[in-house]
Amino acid sequence: MNDLFSKIEQIEQSLQQEFEAINDFIFRHPELGGEEYISVKYLTDVLSQYGFEITMPYCDLDTAFRAEFGDREETKIAFLAEYDALKGMGEKGEPAHGCGHNWIAASSVGAAIVLSQLKDEFKGQIVVLGTPAEETFGAKVDMVERGAFDDIDIVIQGHLGNENILNTQAMAMNSLEFRFTGKPAHAAAYPYNGVNALDAVQLTFAGVNALRQHIRPEARIHGIVSNGGAAANIIPDQAACKLTMRASSSSYLEEITQKVKNCAKGAALMTGTTMEYGKFENSFLDMVNIPSLQEIMKEGLTKAGIENLLEEEVEPKGSTDIGNVSYQCPTSYVQLDVEGDEPFLAHEQSAVSLSNSSYAMKKLHQAIQAFAYTGLYLFLNEKKIEEIKEEHQKILAKKGGKSCENKE
Ligand SMILES: [Zn+2]
Ligand SMILES: [Zn+2]
Repeated sequence: MNDLFSKIEQIEQSLQQEFEAINDFIFRHPELGGEEYISVKYLTDVLSQYGFEITMPYCDLDTAFRAEFGDREETKIAFLAEYDALKGMGEKGEPAHGCGHNWIAASSVGAAIVLSQLKDEFKGQIVVLGTPAEETFGAKVDMVERGAFDDIDIVIQGHLGNENILNTQAMAMNSLEFRFTGKPAHAAAYPYNGVNALDAVQLTFAGVNALRQHIRPEARIHGIVSNGGAAANIIPDQAACKLTMRASSSSYLEEITQKVKNCAKGAALMTGTTMEYGKFENSFLDMVNIPSLQEIMKEGLTKAGIENLLEEEVEPKGSTDIGNVSYQCPTSYVQLDVEGDEPFLAHEQSAVSLSNSSYAMKKLHQAIQAFAYTGLYLFLNEKKIEEIKEEHQKILAKKGGKSCENKE
C-alpha cells in the first residue's frame, strides 16, 4: 500500500493549487445554512470539470447535491462536503466561516478528485454529497431520512480543531419547544379570571433547574423563553420556551428528554394550562466510531505526516448532524489540529482567522491524502468493507439502536 500512497501523494501535489483555491473561494463567499447557492454552484462546477455527474438540488434541498464518478453498480464511498458559514461572525456582523466548513468542502472534494484520477486501479463509485446547513437545521438528518445514504457503503469527512482526534465524539441532542395556552385577563382588575401561560414556562424552568442535580455531569440542558406573553397588564394566555437537551449517548438523551417533558407536563398541571410540544430543530444522534475503519484512516493520516493522534475517546463538546449519518453508514469522522499561531476554537474569532490560513492549507493537503488513501484502500479491499459493516451492526446492537425525537 506504500506504492499506492505515493501515487496519491503525487496526484495530490500536482493539484494543490486547485484545492487551495476551493478552500479560499468558499471562505470568501460565506453563506448561511440553506442559502449556500454560490458555494454549491462553485463546487459542482469544479466537480463536473473533473468528470463528476451532478444531481442538484438533491433530497428536496436547494443547496444539497450529489456528485458521482465511476461504476454505478459497485462499492460506493461518499465524501461529505459542508459549506455553511456562521451568522454575524464577520468584521461588520456579516456571516463568516468560523467553523472551517470551507475547509471541509475543500478536503472532501479534493479527496474525491484525487481518487477519480486513480479510477483505472479499482472498481467502484466515488460520491461527493453536498450537505448544507450543518450549523442550523442539520440537513444531513433530512438526507438520511430521504435515503441519500441508503446505497452508500462508507462515509468519510473531517473537521478542523485544536487537537488531532481519531475517534471524534458528538453529543446526541434533542431540541424541543413547549407551548402553553392559558386564558387572558386584565392583570389588575380580574387576574383571578386568567390562566397564566408564562407561569407554566417559569415552572418548567424551575423543574428543569431542580433536575440538573440529578443528571450526569456531561449532559446539558439549556434554553430560552421564546414567547413570554404580549403585555405586562394582561395575564399571558400564550407562552413558550425552547429547550435543548444533550447527552453522550442517545439512550441517556432519551431518559433526560422524558424527564424534561415531565417538567413541562407538571407545569401545565400546576397552572391549569394546556401544553403541546414539538422539535424546533432536527435531533442529532451521537457518533458511532468503528475501530476497523478508523485503523485504516489512522494509517492514512500517519502516512500523510499527522502526528500526535489521540485515539482514546475524548469528551464530546458539541453535537452534529453527521452523528445521524454514522448510525446509517459506517462513517470515519476525524478532527485535525490546525497547529496555527493560536488554538483553533470553533465559533470563535480564532477559527475565522485560521480557516483560510497557510496552517489550514497544510492540513488540507494532509487530509486529502489521508482521505483518498482510506478510500483507495477500501475500494481495493471489498472484504474489509464487509467486516466494517458487520462491526458497525454489532456496535449499533450494543447501543440499543437509535432513538431520538426525529423518530417519534
Ligand atoms: Zn460549527
Ligand atoms: Zn463545524
